[in-house]
Amino acid sequence: MTRTVYVNGDYLPETEAKVSIFDRGFLMADGVYEVTSVLDGKLIDFDGHAIRLERSLGELDMRNPISKEDLLEVHRELVRANEINEGLIYLQITRGSDGDRDFAFPDPETTVPTIVMFTQNKPGMADSPASKKGAKVISIEDIRWGRRDIKTVQLLYPSMGKMMAKKVGCDDAWMVEDGFVTEGTSNNAYIVKGNKIITRALSNDILHGITRAAVLRFAREAQMEVEERNFTIDEAKEADEAFTTSASAFVMPVVEIDGVALGDGTPGRIAPRLREIYLDEMRKAAV
Ligand code: PMP
Repeated sequence: MTRTVYVNGDYLPETEAKVSIFDRGFLMADGVYEVTSVLDGKLIDFDGHAIRLERSLGELDMRNPISKEDLLEVHRELVRANEINEGLIYLQITRGSDGDRDFAFPDPETTVPTIVMFTQNKPGMADSPASKKGAKVISIEDIRWGRRDIKTVQLLYPSMGKMMAKKVGCDDAWMVEDGFVTEGTSNNAYIVKGNKIITRALSNDILHGITRAAVLRFAREAQMEVEERNFTIDEAKEADEAFTTSASAFVMPVVEIDGVALGDGTPGRIAPRLREIYLDEMRKAAV
């Protein structure tokens, strides 16, 4: 099926959507993005994504070309036009094009940002077999830039990390800086010891996951203990459980780290429970 996508105010068949070769997103990775999941044809945590988008744009001195109301309307129209029941909506805003290439930012008065949105249909996403099996991760050095709290489209190193994992038969990579785990290539990372969930505290070192915020809230509500602090790969290998969170994979159990099985090598008790709570609560609050 040819998707209907959104480009700068227009809904178009994907084959007709165009962006300039001078767009700074293309030339400089000068852009930010969000991925919002759709369950039962409704948007999960739309507000969280809209707020983080605003923050990412602000940190980069980029103008937001769309109001929150219009953004919600476009998300809903894309869900409707593409008949998405379970899937994702990708949104990207770049600094646009002033018709040439220059390191200096173009004048924001005359250069409008580019906004692109498209859907990805993922039937069965909530009930994925991968989440029942759990993920195997490797550890790699985190050599990304220092503003990982901004959700930019500079995703080359995370893509390379994913490929390093695939090459050795694993699913993902956890990145390590100064001996401590920062996050997964496209998710936040957690370990579990007893009833305690341990995850790195928020800073410029990691993306402030929208799913992270919701999952930690639900964990606390369920009387689980949450400790926001650094942890090492060695500590993770000895944990009872581990998991990751992201808007596209929700809560994903991790069953192996650098070839070492956690517990009995199957998803533990806490991660699957958090996944269930997260999906239940977020479906209820979906818009
Ligand atoms: N960290 C990184 C590096 C990511 O790319 C993502 C997903 N975009 C996350 C964490 C998880 O964020 P969220 O829960 O908002 O999807």
